[in-house]
Amino acid sequence: MYVGTENVKSIHFDESENQLLIAEMIKNFGAKEIKPYMMEWDETQEFPVRLFNEMGKLGLMGILVPEEYGGAGLGYLEYITAVMEISKIDGSIGLSVAAHNSLCTNHILQFATEDQKQEYLPKLASGEWIGAWGLTEPNTGSDAGNMRTVAVRDGDYYVINGAKNFITHGKSGNVAVVIVRTGEVGDSHGMSAFIIEKGTPGFSAGRKENKLGMRASETTELIFNDCRVHRSQMMGNEGEGFIQAMKILDGGRISIAALSLGIAIGAYESALQYSKERHQFNQPISKFQGISFKLADMATKIEAAKLLTFRAGDMKNRGTDVTKESAMAKLYASEVAVDVANEALQIFGGYGYTKDYPAEKYYRDAKLCTIGEGTSEIQKLVISRCLLK
Ligand SMILES: Cc1cc2nc3c(=O)[nH]c(=O)nc-3n(C[C@H](O)[C@H](O)[C@H](O)COP(=O)(O)OP(=O)(O)OC[C@H]3O[C@@H](n4cnc5c(N)ncnc54)[C@H](O)[C@@H]3O)c2cc1C
Repeated sequence: MYVGTENVKSIHFDESENQLLIAEMIKNFGAKEIKPYMMEWDETQEFPVRLFNEMGKLGLMGILVPEEYGGAGLGYLEYITAVMEISKIDGSIGLSVAAHNSLCTNHILQFATEDQKQEYLPKLASGEWIGAWGLTEPNTGSDAGNMRTVAVRDGDYYVINGAKNFITHGKSGNVAVVIVRTGEVGDSHGMSAFIIEKGTPGFSAGRKENKLGMRASETTELIFNDCRVHRSQMMGNEGEGFIQAMKILDGGRISIAALSLGIAIGAYESALQYSKERHQFNQPISKFQGISFKLADMATKIEAAKLLTFRAGDMKNRGTDVTKESAMAKLYASEVAVDVANEALQIFGGYGYTKDYPAEKYYRDAKLCTIGEGTSEIQKLVISRCLLK
């Protein structure tokens, strides 16, 4: 889908050539490199680092990064297409691509100095390095601004103590962008963002979560124990970290909407196919109105979620404020993913409850979408604040 809204009279809903090429490339790549292994990764919770290195060679690890830093130099519409197509196959790979691109890499792209960009973007965009992004803490998730991990100035260094949790690629990530407190608790200008490399003394990964879904996407704690970081690793000025993080989440939410869409479409397409093959009472189950109406609802909700998501992407491309629109896209698409995955599993009946069919995995993976990068309740908070200001 291409939403060209510069001239309101000519909104195009067809995919651009770039989007079609990306979709085809991912379909082919996924058939060879993801599909044959994804249930094993899911079973064992393996995070397939090599796969991400390979996706880097295809430009999928630096989709939004300009070519001068080794990225693909594409926009949000292509980015949405990429995350959606990967997530149609495997949501957990889609989640990791989204976290790498739009959280860690994008934070550096948006807020780092030229030297920092030169240092980190080529490695991240090529997939040689994997990036993590740490905002959440054990006691502060939705209320991230109340974080307790603290960085204390000591000459040219900051000494960081505390912990982050639920961090995607916390262990395998080569570099992490972390937001920590440098001022008073409760002050939105009391937090700063640092780029911290794996292997920095005092910085380590903690427990890896054993999750319901998205099991091939690694989720761990980050632990800071007198971790000394030079002030040159800070992005922007002291006190700007939380504001930066909120801006990053505006874009990040578009990618969770794309992730949700991919899971919903994957679940829907598999259920549609199954409904034509499975016979009961001497006819395909798709002939029962009870089933065909489910398919109609699923397809309609997916189309509505697509419109919201691509609209937010188009606005982001044009540099418009997308706080409300990205929250709306994320809220709606993630709830649709859960709903569609649930109905898809229902259409598969008992077989849907087994690992012989893809329905159960879509069902497990979908639920993360209403939680990560702000729960549905928090999206409503963001939307209503925009409406009432
Ligand atoms: C697989 C996975 C990957 C993740 N990856 C990352 C990552 O890479 N980096 C990162 O920083 N974080 C990451 N997260 C963390 C994620 O963003 C948080 O889990 C999420 O923001 C919710 O925070 P919480 O889990 O602490 O829930 P809580 O904030 O404790 O919320 C619990 C419940 O209370 C509700 N609630 C809270 N406040 C309000 C309110 N004001 N009004 C109404 N309801 C409210 C919530 O909606 C929710 O239903 C990840 C999480 C998961 C599960």
